[in-house]
Amino acid sequence: MTRVYLDHNASAPLRPEAAEAMTAAMALRGNPSSVHGEGRAMRAEVERARADVAALAGCDPASVVFTSGATEANALAMKASPGPVAAAGIEHPSILENIGDMRAIACLPDGRIDLAALETLLKESPDIATVALMAANNETGVVQPVTEAAALCRAAGVRLHVDAVQQAGKAGLAAIWDRCDSMSVTAHKIGGPTGAGALIVRDPGAWPALIAGGGQEQRVRAGTENVPGIAGFGAAARAAAREADGWAGVRDRRDRLETAMRDRVPEICIVGGGAPRLPNTLCAAVPGVPSALMTMRLDLAGIAVSAGSACSSGKVAASPVLSAMGVGPEIAQSAIRISQGLYTTERDLERFLAAWSDTVAAKRRNS
Ligand code: PLP
Repeated sequence: MTRVYLDHNASAPLRPEAAEAMTAAMALRGNPSSVHGEGRAMRAEVERARADVAALAGCDPASVVFTSGATEANALAMKASPGPVAAAGIEHPSILENIGDMRAIACLPDGRIDLAALETLLKESPDIATVALMAANNETGVVQPVTEAAALCRAAGVRLHVDAVQQAGKAGLAAIWDRCDSMSVTAHKIGGPTGAGALIVRDPGAWPALIAGGGQEQRVRAGTENVPGIAGFGAAARAAAREADGWAGVRDRRDRLETAMRDRVPEICIVGGGAPRLPNTLCAAVPGVPSALMTMRLDLAGIAVSAGSACSSGKVAASPVLSAMGVGPEIAQSAIRISQGLYTTERDLERFLAAWSDTVAAKRRNS
């Protein structure tokens, strides 16, 4: 039985274009900082990828600083803040866990940040140096009001860092890049390899050496570049830009699936359903059907989705994202995330729907 993969927000499958680019780069030898022919060939791979990632991000290639992924990009951006950082509890741990002095931005129940609260916070705390705001949330798909937040940041003279990981490839980033000071992206959410990402910065020359060493990546992030990973990232960015139109169909399929789930189980709760969302993401909870049970039953039926709850030290804890939205424990403990890719089919979703409905029915029979 072929498996159905509905966990693209965790990691999208490697695109064939990316695999080919990585294989070709692995056949090269040398160091991209060397001036001989071998080194220059490696450098050419890195610079080609830089141009492709810049095209996807809507920025100048000189703004792209390659990193080992978005965790590193976010951590470096937080480290670079000259003062306290304001962020909401819905942010990724790679933001929250790397802030030294954090000021909390309140969240609305629909999953968006509370802009009025941000405005007040910036007025009352003039020491805030940076606001960190994700473009779209990985668990709920909720798209944040980046344009409005950017206007508040600009008025307050505060930097804005945007984690654009989940939005990259699914919607344009140029309008975000026009309004922020730094942005993070990662390859494996767009069909590139794990272990390659970028911190996009407006003026790399003005940034401190966040990782000091041999001066690579415009001195912002030293270390010999991961050329195969970067080449795969570039190829994935090129392919993602080419296929950007495909997401409208994904949105239609997501909305039809949501309707079908509601028809079968009217008590379903769609987390973030009242806000604008990424086209591929559906966070759904059926009260009384724990996400651990649901994900396990779906896995046994050959379907991969993720739980909206984090598991640490063997203890299932409510997701901090859902807690920040004020979602109660019953919903939080039942939330699952279904995240499609461009090539998810109607048939895949039918198999999901059948296994999901069976699990809800079986749980109710046994309760
Ligand atoms: N930010 C968001 C919103 C994410 O979803 C992820 C991945 O889970 C990251 C950052 C971290 O990216 P990476 O896996 O490249 O470190």
